[in-house]
Amino acid sequence: MNLWQEFIRPATLSQALKAFTESRGPALPIAGGTDLMLDLAQGRHAPVHTLVDVTSIAEMIVLELRGDELFVGAAVPVNRIASDPLVGRHAQALTEACELIAGPQVRNVATLGGNVAHALPAADGTIALLALNAEAEIASAKAPAAVLGGGDATENLVETRRIPFNELFLGPGKSSLKHGEELLVGFYLPLTRHHQASCFKRIPRPQGVALPILNCAVWLERENGDIKDIRIAVGPGGAIPFRATEAEGTLRGQSLIKTTFESALGALLAQAQFRSSARRASADYRQHIVSGLFKDVLETAWSRAG
Ligand SMILES: Cc1cc2nc3c(=O)[nH]c(=O)nc-3n(C[C@H](O)[C@H](O)[C@H](O)COP(=O)(O)OP(=O)(O)OC[C@H]3O[C@@H](n4cnc5c(N)ncnc54)[C@H](O)[C@@H]3O)c2cc1C
Repeated sequence: MNLWQEFIRPATLSQALKAFTESRGPALPIAGGTDLMLDLAQGRHAPVHTLVDVTSIAEMIVLELRGDELFVGAAVPVNRIASDPLVGRHAQALTEACELIAGPQVRNVATLGGNVAHALPAADGTIALLALNAEAEIASAKAPAAVLGGGDATENLVETRRIPFNELFLGPGKSSLKHGEELLVGFYLPLTRHHQASCFKRIPRPQGVALPILNCAVWLERENGDIKDIRIAVGPGGAIPFRATEAEGTLRGQSLIKTTFESALGALLAQAQFRSSARRASADYRQHIVSGLFKDVLETAWSRAG
């Protein structure tokens, strides 16, 4: 049995959105296919009629500075992100996450957009983007009334909007994107200024390349020996990618000494909802090992920002 009936490779966003509206059955975007192909082949995904390959869409394979932000297209493969000097300079946590996703073959095709759209609470790219305060750009087709204004209807088809990154997630494997209607175009990241830095690390499964047992990303800014501002993300720390906002609150305005770390760790443990996953780790084990990972990531970000 075919896993899909039609495979379309558009070159523009408007062609992709048109392919969604014209599909004669359920349609889905596909990027690297490293998650989606397995899900379709192993029956974990509802049948799909049309796959719309987003990897040739010009707007989605750009990685560039735009004003005072860095834009990373959703269809940029993670190996390109891992080796990009702009990302290394402005989003070191994202470089480190992309270097660690899967193995080289998967990294050659897997995209950041696919990593995020799959909405797994421990996806490495996702956890880095959360700590880096990313915003997501989403494209959808304009309502027919809005297109009537004249000109070329195909060119007028696309509407884009930006949303805070955490609004993309509803639950494990469940994004807020409307399937077969909306596309993640890319991510906007604030540039890293003087005395700001980030770090991402993870505790991998001993069995090999896969989602980790635990990961953590920290972005922070130093001022006069204190933490002026900080963002902490831990995966999987709940049903959706988890920001440790209580721990952030205990560290903001404080210097990084043993007692402030201990209060931050206490706040993180109280807020996180670690769960047991059959093939990775128990909730208790995660609760136990998060301390060392969090300390390591926090101290690395702190020293980088010095
Ligand atoms: C062997 C192996 C090891 C792995 N190891 C890791 C790991 O260490 N860390 C990790 O985080 N992940 C890992 N993964 C998971 C996966 O490779 C990554 O999440 C990858 O980034 C997914 O990207 P993709 O382009 O292949 O997505 P696809 O499989 O193409 O798509 C995934 C989902 O996102 C949707 N989608 C894709 N692009 C868009 C878009 N632009 N807009 C809207 N929806 C979109 C698709 O419809 C689909 O539902 C691993 C996978 C494999 C097979």
